[in-house]
Amino acid sequence: MRRFGPTIFAEMSALAQRTGAVNLGQGFPDTDGPASLLEGAVEAIRSGVNQYPPGIGMPVLLEAVARHQRRFYGITLDPATEILVTAGATEALSAALLALVETGDEVLVLEPAYDAYVAGIALAGGVQRPVPLRPTPQGWRLDVAALRAAANGRSRVLLLNTPHNPTGTVLTAAELTAVAEVAVEHDLVVITDEVYEHLVYPRPGDVDGPGRDVPLHVPIATLPGMAERTLTVSSAGKTFSVTGWKIGWVSGPAELVAAVRTVKQFLTYVNGAPFQPAVAGALDLPDAFFTELAADHARRRDLLADGLRAGGFGVLPADGTYFLTADPRPLGFEDGTDLCRRLPGLAGVVAVPMAAFCKPGSPTHARAAPLLRFTFCKSDAVLHEAVDRLQRLAPSRTA
Ligand SMILES: *Cc1c(COP(=O)(O)O)cnc(C)c1O
Repeated sequence: MRRFGPTIFAEMSALAQRTGAVNLGQGFPDTDGPASLLEGAVEAIRSGVNQYPPGIGMPVLLEAVARHQRRFYGITLDPATEILVTAGATEALSAALLALVETGDEVLVLEPAYDAYVAGIALAGGVQRPVPLRPTPQGWRLDVAALRAAANGRSRVLLLNTPHNPTGTVLTAAELTAVAEVAVEHDLVVITDEVYEHLVYPRPGDVDGPGRDVPLHVPIATLPGMAERTLTVSSAGKTFSVTGWKIGWVSGPAELVAAVRTVKQFLTYVNGAPFQPAVAGALDLPDAFFTELAADHARRRDLLADGLRAGGFGVLPADGTYFLTADPRPLGFEDGTDLCRRLPGLAGVVAVPMAAFCKPGSPTHARAAPLLRFTFCKSDAVLHEAVDRLQRLAPSRTA
């Protein structure tokens, strides 16, 4: 693990603290989740839910995850064998990789990639095989030809993430179908990270359909031939704005879930007893909670995107997550990593360079090199302050 030093995220957050810059680098909300969720955890602690829970998770949460998957996606799961509670999505992903990847197996992974994937593949002894997303005027789009070319006889797992961090991409039906076809053709297990499942937004001006002002997430497990080869990962952190709780879950075929459980029992054994019943209650919140969450974040995305454009940045469309991509080249900055180091001094704002999510030397790394990732999961006051400060980058403009 020698090549995994302290990350750029730690460097940028330390920079934000030292300089008092507005931190739009790391993606964590600055407001807490629903009061009923917070009260649920307090209540569980007070009523004695403080010892080791069952290894697969507490039945109340397993049943709530099963209800949630049926309610939103029509997926039927047996809570006794097809769901496992984990220490956040992070443990679900690492345990799944450790369970399924043997030394030298290749793991296809969308690039740019969330940093834990690359480390998780390395821990398992696997080989990362990047599959490029390309920055286009329609956002970062899957390079389907490159996906087909990347799959080969050593491919074992395809690690998917939609909605996608860091780009904000939501894969289209056609892109998901291409992924499913490659998975079936090469007999791959798909591990899909869907922690942003409830953070999918309409494009500004889009009307999605009668009675719904936010589009629905499509789990790849619902595509033909996929349920039997897919492990779906999610967690409470992003949906309920409690990123510090680290309650996640993985669901799929009993045999695959059992393999992940075997690894999990030696990583953390169990986790988060009093948070589990609280999250179970939140998963049953009415539809209005989930649609308002998405509508609220869509509004923040638009606030940040409009402010960045007014400040002279290019902005790529982002259809989900906490993040969007800004292009500073119109302002005369060609190197995103260098700009991120200077941005606190130039404008009092912290962002993260997109290149940090790419393998050095890869074609995607070169395409990402100028670009920045900003998060918009912050209060309106913080976003307005950041946007005001960023106008300083274009001194010739009258902001
Ligand atoms: C935040 C995040 C995670 C981590 O989820 P936890 O439940 O906090 O472990 C995993 N994947 C992606 C893409 C994320 O953005």
